[in-house]
Amino acid sequence: MDPYSIFSDIVAGRAPASRVFEDDDVVAFMDIRPFTPGHVLVIPKQPARNLAELDPEIGAKLFQVGQRLAAALRDSEVAADGVNFFLADGIAAGQEVFHVHLHVIPRTSGDGFGLRGRPTSPHRADLDYLASSIRGTLERS
Ligand code: AMP
Repeated sequence: MDPYSIFSDIVAGRAPASRVFEDDDVVAFMDIRPFTPGHVLVIPKQPARNLAELDPEIGAKLFQVGQRLAAALRDSEVAADGVNFFLADGIAAGQEVFHVHLHVIPRTSGDGFGLRGRPTSPHRADLDYLASSIRGTLERS
């Protein structure tokens, strides 16, 4: 099944989901292959395959709901000691489902989850060079 439509089907109530939150703009539900117990996904109701297609106001809403969920993951029986947010935008970033989603991942010490690999500590000149390129692109957008 097309994964893009799976999340659309969840929004429409045609596919099963263990929902934790819903309003006019977003739905949050349990990830069926959680990185850690209590892993929640927050998605926009309006489909957007990637960040470029996502209304920035809805993007802000995803983060707001993620903040509330983070508090709930600490205070509920999930009993998280910490929380990671993760969002994969594009295949190279590990995106598998092409309907934007914010992962809200509860953390406890020693749970084994984590980003791996930070191969270099570049020189300041290299950081400045890329900063200048990104700044220039932002100024033109
Ligand atoms: P990503 O690699 O960021 O695209 O992550 C997609 C996530 O969606 C994975 O963590 C999957 O386990 C999760 N997922 C895929 N299908 C479903 C579904 N039907 N219900 C809940 N989570 C799903």
